[in-house]
Amino acid sequence: MPTPTRAAVVESGGAPFTLSDVELADPGPHEAVVRMVATGLCHTDLGVASGGLPFPLPGVLGHEGAGVVEAVGPAVTGVAPGDHVVLSFTSCGDCRDCRGGHPAYCATWLPLNLIGGRRADGTGTISRGGEELGGHFFGQSSFAERALVDERSLVKVDPEVPLASIAPLGCGVQTGVGAVWNVLKPVTGSTVVVLGAGAVGLSAVMAAALTPATTIVAVDRVAERLSLARELGATHTVNAAEADLGEALAGITGGRGADGVVETTGNVGVLRQGVDALAARGTLVVVGAPPFGTEVALDVNGLLGGKRIVGLTLGDAETQTFIPALVELVKEGRLPLHRLISSYPFTEIDQAVRDMGAGKAIKPVLTF
Ligand SMILES: [Zn+2]
Ligand SMILES: [Zn+2]
Repeated sequence: MPTPTRAAVVESGGAPFTLSDVELADPGPHEAVVRMVATGLCHTDLGVASGGLPFPLPGVLGHEGAGVVEAVGPAVTGVAPGDHVVLSFTSCGDCRDCRGGHPAYCATWLPLNLIGGRRADGTGTISRGGEELGGHFFGQSSFAERALVDERSLVKVDPEVPLASIAPLGCGVQTGVGAVWNVLKPVTGSTVVVLGAGAVGLSAVMAAALTPATTIVAVDRVAERLSLARELGATHTVNAAEADLGEALAGITGGRGADGVVETTGNVGVLRQGVDALAARGTLVVVGAPPFGTEVALDVNGLLGGKRIVGLTLGDAETQTFIPALVELVKEGRLPLHRLISSYPFTEIDQAVRDMGAGKAIKPVLTF
Protein backbone atom coordinates (compact mmCIF):
# COMPACT_ATOMS: atom_id res chain seq x y z
CA MET A 1 0.00 0.00 0.00
CA PRO A 2 1.37 3.47 -0.88
CA THR A 3 2.01 5.69 2.15
CA PRO A 4 0.08 8.99 2.10
CA THR A 5 1.97 12.03 3.36
CA ARG A 6 2.22 15.77 2.96
CA ALA A 7 5.13 17.29 1.06
CA ALA A 8 6.39 20.73 0.03
CA VAL A 9 6.12 20.49 -3.76
CA VAL A 10 7.84 22.81 -6.23
CA GLU A 11 5.50 22.90 -9.22
CA SER A 12 7.92 24.46 -11.73
CA GLY A 13 11.23 26.31 -11.87
CA GLY A 14 10.98 29.50 -9.80
CA ALA A 15 7.69 28.54 -8.13
CA PRO A 16 7.40 28.58 -4.32
CA PHE A 17 7.18 25.49 -2.12
CA THR A 18 3.52 24.56 -1.66
CA LEU A 19 2.20 21.91 0.71
CA SER A 20 0.44 19.12 -1.09
CA ASP A 21 -0.89 15.62 -0.31
CA VAL A 22 1.25 12.99 -2.03
CA GLU A 23 1.80 9.23 -1.92
CA LEU A 24 5.09 7.44 -1.32
CA ALA A 25 5.69 4.24 -3.26
CA ASP A 26 6.07 0.98 -1.34
CA PRO A 27 9.60 0.61 0.03
CA GLY A 28 11.85 -1.40 -2.27
CA PRO A 29 14.13 -4.09 -0.79
CA HIS A 30 16.79 -1.50 0.13
CA GLU A 31 14.54 1.38 1.23
CA ALA A 32 12.93 2.61 4.43
CA VAL A 33 10.01 4.86 5.31
CA VAL A 34 11.18 7.57 7.70
CA ARG A 35 8.94 9.89 9.73
CA MET A 36 10.65 13.23 9.48
CA VAL A 37 11.40 15.17 12.68
CA ALA A 38 13.52 17.92 11.13
CA THR A 39 15.13 18.79 7.82
CA GLY A 40 17.62 21.50 6.97
CA LEU A 41 17.34 23.91 4.07
CA CYS A 42 20.43 24.20 1.84
CA HIS A 43 21.31 26.47 -1.07
CA THR A 44 21.25 23.43 -3.36
CA ASP A 45 17.51 23.04 -2.68
CA LEU A 46 16.97 26.65 -3.73
CA GLY A 47 19.15 26.24 -6.83
CA VAL A 48 17.08 23.27 -7.99
CA ALA A 49 13.77 24.93 -7.03
CA SER A 50 14.72 27.93 -9.16
CA GLY A 51 14.96 25.64 -12.18
CA GLY A 52 18.73 25.96 -12.45
CA LEU A 53 19.28 22.19 -12.70
CA PRO A 54 17.53 19.56 -14.82
CA PHE A 55 15.68 17.93 -11.88
CA PRO A 56 12.14 16.90 -12.96
CA LEU A 57 9.46 19.30 -11.61
CA PRO A 58 6.91 19.21 -10.11
CA GLY A 59 9.01 17.53 -7.48
CA VAL A 60 9.98 17.22 -3.84
CA LEU A 61 13.41 18.42 -2.66
CA GLY A 62 15.04 18.35 0.80
CA HIS A 63 18.33 16.60 1.54
CA GLU A 64 19.20 17.24 5.21
CA GLY A 65 16.54 15.10 6.83
CA ALA A 66 16.53 13.57 10.30
CA GLY A 67 13.81 11.32 11.63
CA VAL A 68 12.64 7.99 12.94
CA VAL A 69 12.43 4.81 10.87
CA GLU A 70 8.85 3.53 10.53
CA ALA A 71 9.19 0.63 8.10
CA VAL A 72 11.99 -1.08 6.18
CA GLY A 73 12.23 -3.08 2.98
CA PRO A 74 13.07 -6.80 3.27
CA ALA A 75 16.80 -6.45 2.48
CA VAL A 76 17.51 -3.55 4.88
CA THR A 77 19.83 -4.72 7.65
CA GLY A 78 21.43 -1.53 9.02
CA VAL A 79 18.32 0.02 10.62
CA ALA A 80 15.03 -1.12 12.10
CA PRO A 81 11.73 0.61 12.93
CA GLY A 82 12.22 3.00 15.84
CA ASP A 83 15.85 3.83 15.01
CA HIS A 84 16.85 7.49 14.83
CA VAL A 85 18.49 8.37 11.53
CA VAL A 86 20.23 11.29 9.86
CA LEU A 87 19.74 11.30 6.08
CA SER A 88 22.59 12.11 3.73
CA PHE A 89 23.39 11.36 0.08
CA THR A 90 23.12 7.98 -1.64
CA SER A 91 25.61 6.08 -3.80
CA CYS A 92 25.77 2.76 -5.61
CA GLY A 93 28.10 1.04 -3.13
CA ASP A 94 29.69 -0.94 -5.91
CA CYS A 95 31.85 1.32 -8.12
CA ARG A 96 35.57 1.91 -7.63
CA ASP A 97 35.18 5.10 -5.57
CA CYS A 98 32.36 3.70 -3.42
CA ARG A 99 34.48 0.64 -2.66
CA GLY A 100 37.48 2.88 -2.01
CA GLY A 101 35.62 4.74 0.75
CA HIS A 102 34.75 7.81 -1.33
CA PRO A 103 31.01 7.46 -2.03
CA ALA A 104 30.61 11.20 -2.75
CA TYR A 105 32.53 10.45 -5.96
CA CYS A 106 30.27 7.52 -6.90
CA ALA A 107 30.06 6.96 -10.66
CA THR A 108 26.29 7.44 -10.45
CA TRP A 109 26.33 10.35 -7.97
CA LEU A 110 24.69 13.01 -10.16
CA PRO A 111 21.62 11.07 -11.38
CA LEU A 112 21.10 9.20 -8.08
CA ASN A 113 21.19 12.35 -5.95
CA LEU A 114 20.84 15.63 -7.73
CA ILE A 115 19.15 15.56 -11.13
CA GLY A 116 17.57 12.16 -11.82
CA GLY A 117 14.46 12.46 -9.65
CA ARG A 118 14.02 8.67 -9.69
CA ARG A 119 15.54 5.46 -8.41
CA ALA A 120 18.46 3.89 -10.29
CA ASP A 121 16.02 1.49 -12.00
CA GLY A 122 14.05 4.45 -13.38
CA THR A 123 10.98 4.07 -11.18
CA GLY A 124 9.54 6.99 -9.21
CA THR A 125 9.23 7.25 -5.43
CA ILE A 126 6.52 9.93 -5.05
CA SER A 127 3.24 10.51 -6.87
CA ARG A 128 0.21 12.76 -6.54
CA GLY A 129 -3.20 11.63 -7.73
CA GLY A 130 -1.56 8.99 -9.90
CA GLU A 131 0.90 11.45 -11.50
CA GLU A 132 4.58 10.80 -10.81
CA LEU A 133 6.55 13.64 -9.19
CA GLY A 134 10.30 14.22 -9.14
CA GLY A 135 11.63 12.59 -5.97
CA HIS A 136 14.53 10.49 -4.66
CA PHE A 137 16.45 13.77 -4.14
CA PHE A 138 19.70 12.68 -2.44
CA GLY A 139 17.88 9.37 -1.96
CA GLN A 140 15.43 11.09 0.41
CA SER A 141 13.30 14.10 -0.75
CA SER A 142 12.81 15.06 2.88
CA PHE A 143 10.65 18.19 2.54
CA ALA A 144 7.78 15.93 3.56
CA GLU A 145 6.26 14.52 6.73
CA ARG A 146 7.38 11.06 5.61
CA ALA A 147 10.10 10.13 3.15
CA LEU A 148 11.01 7.00 1.25
CA VAL A 149 14.74 6.76 1.83
CA ASP A 150 17.44 4.78 0.09
CA GLU A 151 19.34 2.53 2.52
CA ARG A 152 22.66 4.15 1.59
CA SER A 153 21.29 7.61 2.54
CA LEU A 154 20.46 6.38 6.07
CA VAL A 155 22.83 6.84 8.99
CA LYS A 156 21.74 5.44 12.36
CA VAL A 157 22.50 7.89 15.17
CA ASP A 158 22.49 8.11 18.96
CA PRO A 159 18.81 8.49 19.99
CA GLU A 160 19.80 10.69 22.95
CA VAL A 161 20.76 13.57 20.65
CA PRO A 162 17.76 15.70 19.54
CA LEU A 163 17.24 15.17 15.80
CA ALA A 164 16.48 18.85 15.16
CA SER A 165 19.98 19.71 16.38
CA ILE A 166 21.76 17.40 13.92
CA ALA A 167 19.69 17.48 10.70
CA PRO A 168 22.24 19.69 8.85
CA LEU A 169 24.98 17.11 9.34
CA GLY A 170 23.86 15.29 6.19
CA CYS A 171 24.99 18.00 3.77
CA GLY A 172 26.20 21.45 4.81
CA VAL A 173 28.03 20.61 8.01
CA GLN A 174 29.56 17.42 6.63
CA THR A 175 30.83 19.43 3.66
CA GLY A 176 32.50 22.14 5.72
CA VAL A 177 33.99 19.78 8.27
CA GLY A 178 35.16 17.35 5.58
CA ALA A 179 36.91 20.14 3.67
CA VAL A 180 39.17 20.65 6.68
CA TRP A 181 39.50 17.14 8.11
CA ASN A 182 39.46 15.06 4.93
CA VAL A 183 41.24 17.35 2.49
CA LEU A 184 43.32 20.05 4.19
CA LYS A 185 44.30 17.93 7.23
CA PRO A 186 46.07 20.92 8.84
CA VAL A 187 49.41 20.20 10.49
CA THR A 188 50.69 21.89 13.64
CA GLY A 189 50.91 25.66 13.33
CA SER A 190 49.23 25.96 9.96
CA THR A 191 46.94 28.68 8.69
CA VAL A 192 43.42 27.89 7.45
CA VAL A 193 41.40 30.57 5.64
CA VAL A 194 37.65 30.12 5.18
CA LEU A 195 36.08 32.22 2.44
CA GLY A 196 32.40 32.80 3.24
CA ALA A 197 30.91 32.47 6.74
CA GLY A 198 27.66 30.71 5.86
CA ALA A 199 26.69 27.28 7.19
CA VAL A 200 29.44 25.46 5.28
CA GLY A 201 32.11 28.05 6.06
CA LEU A 202 31.27 28.24 9.77
CA SER A 203 31.32 24.44 9.92
CA ALA A 204 34.81 24.59 8.42
CA VAL A 205 35.81 27.12 11.10
CA MET A 206 34.51 24.85 13.89
CA ALA A 207 36.32 21.90 12.34
CA ALA A 208 39.58 23.83 12.01
CA ALA A 209 39.34 24.77 15.69
CA LEU A 210 39.50 21.03 16.48
CA THR A 211 42.84 20.64 14.62
CA PRO A 212 46.40 21.84 15.37
CA ALA A 213 45.96 24.80 12.98
CA THR A 214 46.87 27.87 15.00
CA THR A 215 45.65 30.61 12.69
CA ILE A 216 42.04 30.38 11.50
CA VAL A 217 40.81 33.25 9.35
CA ALA A 218 37.13 33.75 8.46
CA VAL A 219 36.29 36.05 5.55
CA ASP A 220 32.83 37.46 4.80
CA ARG A 221 31.07 40.72 4.02
CA VAL A 222 28.64 40.57 6.98
CA ALA A 223 29.99 41.78 10.32
CA GLU A 224 27.63 39.66 12.47
CA ARG A 225 28.75 36.48 10.73
CA LEU A 226 32.37 37.40 11.37
CA SER A 227 31.74 37.90 15.07
CA LEU A 228 29.98 34.52 15.19
CA ALA A 229 32.99 33.00 13.40
CA ARG A 230 35.22 34.34 16.17
CA GLU A 231 33.02 32.75 18.81
CA LEU A 232 33.24 29.46 16.92
CA GLY A 233 37.03 29.43 16.76
CA ALA A 234 38.31 31.91 14.17
CA THR A 235 41.44 33.67 15.41
CA HIS A 236 41.17 36.43 12.79
CA THR A 237 38.43 37.84 10.59
CA VAL A 238 38.51 39.89 7.40
CA ASN A 239 35.52 41.92 6.26
CA ALA A 240 35.89 41.73 2.48
CA ALA A 241 33.51 44.68 2.08
CA GLU A 242 36.00 46.91 3.88
CA ALA A 243 39.50 45.47 3.41
CA ASP A 244 41.53 44.16 0.48
CA LEU A 245 41.55 40.41 0.99
CA GLY A 246 45.02 39.81 -0.43
CA GLU A 247 46.61 42.53 1.70
CA ALA A 248 44.75 41.45 4.81
CA LEU A 249 45.80 37.81 4.46
CA ALA A 250 49.39 38.80 3.71
CA GLY A 251 49.36 40.83 6.92
CA ILE A 252 47.90 38.03 9.04
CA THR A 253 50.32 35.39 7.71
CA GLY A 254 53.41 37.62 7.79
CA GLY A 255 53.56 37.52 4.00
CA ARG A 256 53.79 33.75 3.88
CA GLY A 257 50.26 33.01 2.69
CA ALA A 258 47.70 30.42 3.70
CA ASP A 259 48.42 26.70 3.99
CA GLY A 260 44.78 25.87 3.43
CA VAL A 261 41.84 27.77 1.97
CA VAL A 262 38.20 26.64 1.92
CA GLU A 263 36.23 28.47 -0.79
CA THR A 264 32.50 28.33 -0.02
CA THR A 265 31.15 31.39 -1.83
CA GLY A 266 30.88 30.05 -5.37
CA ASN A 267 32.19 33.42 -6.58
CA VAL A 268 35.05 32.98 -9.07
CA GLY A 269 36.59 36.34 -8.16
CA VAL A 270 36.85 35.16 -4.55
CA LEU A 271 38.19 31.80 -5.73
CA ARG A 272 40.94 33.55 -7.67
CA GLN A 273 41.88 35.65 -4.64
CA GLY A 274 41.99 32.50 -2.53
CA VAL A 275 44.39 30.80 -4.94
CA ASP A 276 46.60 33.89 -5.00
CA ALA A 277 46.67 33.89 -1.17
CA LEU A 278 48.07 30.34 -0.92
CA ALA A 279 51.48 29.70 0.61
CA ALA A 280 53.94 27.41 -1.19
CA ARG A 281 52.50 23.85 -1.11
CA GLY A 282 49.16 25.28 0.05
CA THR A 283 45.81 23.76 -0.92
CA LEU A 284 42.56 25.45 -1.86
CA VAL A 285 39.38 23.40 -1.57
CA VAL A 286 36.56 24.41 -3.91
CA VAL A 287 33.22 23.84 -2.17
CA GLY A 288 31.01 26.68 -3.44
CA ALA A 289 29.29 25.86 -6.73
CA PRO A 290 28.72 28.59 -9.33
CA PRO A 291 26.30 27.91 -12.23
CA PHE A 292 27.21 24.97 -14.51
CA GLY A 293 29.78 25.96 -17.15
CA THR A 294 31.47 28.69 -15.04
CA GLU A 295 35.21 29.07 -15.66
CA VAL A 296 37.99 30.88 -13.76
CA ALA A 297 41.29 32.38 -14.93
CA LEU A 298 44.41 31.51 -12.92
CA ASP A 299 48.03 32.71 -12.96
CA VAL A 300 49.69 29.47 -14.09
CA ASN A 301 53.15 30.44 -12.87
CA GLY A 302 51.61 31.23 -9.51
CA LEU A 303 50.75 27.53 -9.13
CA LEU A 304 54.28 26.25 -9.65
CA GLY A 305 55.13 26.62 -5.98
CA GLY A 306 53.44 23.32 -5.28
CA LYS A 307 49.95 24.76 -4.90
CA ARG A 308 46.92 22.55 -5.24
CA ILE A 309 43.29 23.29 -6.12
CA VAL A 310 40.90 20.49 -5.17
CA GLY A 311 37.17 20.23 -5.83
CA LEU A 312 35.02 18.71 -3.09
CA THR A 313 31.61 17.08 -2.83
CA LEU A 314 29.95 16.51 0.57
CA GLY A 315 33.24 16.59 2.44
CA ASP A 316 34.46 13.41 0.69
CA ALA A 317 33.01 11.70 3.74
CA GLU A 318 32.12 8.07 4.28
CA THR A 319 28.82 8.87 5.93
CA GLN A 320 28.48 5.75 8.10
CA THR A 321 31.59 6.62 10.09
CA PHE A 322 31.76 10.40 9.65
CA ILE A 323 28.24 11.42 10.72
CA PRO A 324 28.13 9.39 13.98
CA ALA A 325 31.46 10.98 14.97
CA LEU A 326 30.01 14.44 14.37
CA VAL A 327 26.91 13.52 16.39
CA GLU A 328 29.18 12.57 19.29
CA LEU A 329 30.92 15.96 19.09
CA VAL A 330 27.56 17.74 19.05
CA LYS A 331 26.49 15.72 22.10
CA GLU A 332 29.65 16.70 23.96
CA GLY A 333 29.20 20.38 23.05
CA ARG A 334 32.40 20.45 20.99
CA LEU A 335 30.61 21.13 17.69
CA PRO A 336 28.07 23.84 18.64
CA LEU A 337 25.83 23.51 15.60
CA HIS A 338 22.94 25.16 17.42
CA ARG A 339 24.72 28.49 16.89
CA LEU A 340 24.00 28.16 13.15
CA ILE A 341 20.42 26.90 13.32
CA SER A 342 17.14 28.85 13.09
CA SER A 343 14.04 26.66 13.49
CA TYR A 344 10.81 27.00 11.51
CA PRO A 345 7.67 24.85 11.47
CA PHE A 346 7.54 22.82 8.24
CA THR A 347 4.45 24.78 7.18
CA GLU A 348 6.55 27.96 7.15
CA ILE A 349 9.06 26.69 4.62
CA ASP A 350 8.60 29.76 2.42
CA GLN A 351 9.48 32.09 5.30
CA ALA A 352 12.60 29.98 5.90
CA VAL A 353 13.52 30.31 2.22
CA ARG A 354 13.06 34.09 2.36
CA ASP A 355 15.12 34.42 5.55
CA MET A 356 17.94 32.33 4.10
CA GLY A 357 17.89 34.36 0.88
CA ALA A 358 18.03 37.61 2.87
CA GLY A 359 20.91 36.33 4.99
CA LYS A 360 18.82 36.45 8.19
CA ALA A 361 19.07 32.71 8.80
CA ILE A 362 22.38 30.87 8.38
CA LYS A 363 20.93 27.38 8.55
CA PRO A 364 17.15 27.14 8.61
CA VAL A 365 15.88 23.82 9.99
CA LEU A 366 12.26 22.87 9.40
CA THR A 367 10.61 20.94 12.21
CA PHE A 368 7.61 18.61 11.96
ZN1 LIG B 1 29.29 4.08 -6.51
ZN1 LIG C 1 23.11 20.70 0.56
